[in-house]
Amino acid sequence: MSKKIARERRLGIMGGTFDPIHYGHLVAAEGARYSFNLEKVFFIPAGNPPHKPGHIVCEPSIRYKMTCLAVASNPFFCSSPMEVERPGPSFTIDTVRTMMHLHPEKRIYFITGADAILEIFSWKDSDILLSMCNFVAATRPGYCLKELNEKLDSFPNSFKQNISYMEVPALAISSTDIRQRVREGKPIKYLLPETVEDYILRNNLYR
Ligand code: ATP
Ligand code: MG
Repeated sequence: MSKKIARERRLGIMGGTFDPIHYGHLVAAEGARYSFNLEKVFFIPAGNPPHKPGHIVCEPSIRYKMTCLAVASNPFFCSSPMEVERPGPSFTIDTVRTMMHLHPEKRIYFITGADAILEIFSWKDSDILLSMCNFVAATRPGYCLKELNEKLDSFPNSFKQNISYMEVPALAISSTDIRQRVREGKPIKYLLPETVEDYILRNNLYR
C-alpha cells in the first residue's frame, strides 16, 4: 500500500486598501506565493478600513475593479469583493473566518507589509487572529528586519510563532505617492500595471 504524506494546503490573502493597487503589492504577493507554497493568493480590497478614515480616495467598487485588472495576468492570483460587499468596517478577522469557512481544508497565510505587521496588535481580536492563521510580513524600503524583530521581542511567543518574514526587492512604491503623482501630472508608468494606469487616466481618478 502506498503511503501518502499529507501536505498542508495553503492559501494566501493580500489585504489592503489598494487605492490604487501597484507593483509593490503584486511583487510581495508573488514572493509569498513562491516562498510559502501558496496555491492561490486572494487580493481582498478593504471596503471601509477602520484604520484609514478620511484617507481613502476611491470608492470600494473602483478599488475592486482596479484590483481585478491588476491580478488578471497571474493565474495564481484572484480578487474577492467580500470586504467591499460586507457592510460596516472591514475587519481582517471576519475575512479570515469567511475564508476558513469557504476553504476548510486550507491553511491561511495573510500577507502584509512589515510596516503593517506592527499594527496588528491594534486590530480587532488580534490574539485570536494570530492563532487562526499565519502572517507573512514583507519588508519594504526603510524597514530593517533587525529593528522589527527587536520590536516584536516584547510580544509573547504565542503571538510571534505564526509570523514569518520575507524580503522582497526594495520597491519604494506606495499608493500615496501614486495619487500625488497623478495630482501633480507626473508619470506613474512602470509603478503599476498598464491596465490600472489606463483605468486611472481614462476615469480621471486622483485628479
Ligand atoms: P497608502 O500609501 O495609501 O498607505 P500602500 O501603498 O501602503 O497605500 P496599502 O493598500 O495600504 O498600500 O497596502 C496594502 C498592503 O501592502 C499593506 O500590508 C502594506 O504594508 C503592503 N505594501 C504596500 N506597499 C508595499 C511595497 N511597496 N512593498 C511591499 N509591501 C507593500
Ligand atoms: Mg499603507
